Amino acid sequence: MTTLIKIIRKSIKRNPHAFSTTSYIPLRPETTFKYEGFGKPEWLDNKGVYIGEIKAERIIPAKGKCSKKGYFIIEGHIIDEGLSEKLYRECTEKKHPGLNINVEIKTQEVHHISEPEYFYKHKNSLVECSECYAKVRANDIRKDENMVDICPKCGGYDTFDYKYEKLDDILKTEILI
Ligand SMILES: [Zn+2]
Repeated sequence: MTTLIKIIRKSIKRNPHAFSTTSYIPLRPETTFKYEGFGKPEWLDNKGVYIGEIKAERIIPAKGKCSKKGYFIIEGHIIDEGLSEKLYRECTEKKHPGLNINVEIKTQEVHHISEPEYFYKHKNSLVECSECYAKVRANDIRKDENMVDICPKCGGYDTFDYKYEKLDDILKTEILI
């Protein structure tokens, strides 16, 4: 007799993204900064800071008293994520006057086959081997490279008789919330 491996009714959940063919994957956060003030801050010499070609670096010679240190307007990227987090945190604590940090997380659009309408799981039912009569959990049945079942107890080939309940059959006959 064919064993019917039933779908766990409680596991059936409607996919909020049913039929969607597009997903958005968050990419690495991108940190840019703008510093404006007297003196060149120490953290600028860090390897994880990129100044220049992408955003303009403008070092304006200072006038008057501050000419030794200079007045800087610097824009750039912070590539080192650890440094970016540290500076961002320290900025909120007002430790870096003149520094503005902007963290932007961009997403990438990915296209794929249509998402299923429902998610669900099957029960891990016991199925009997026709060779050794062992009762084996459906999830423990091994498969060969051609997806033919192999009994984990006796090594029998295609010795189980079962089928998985189909969601469509439930949807036709049962009302799901
Ligand atoms: Zn067996």
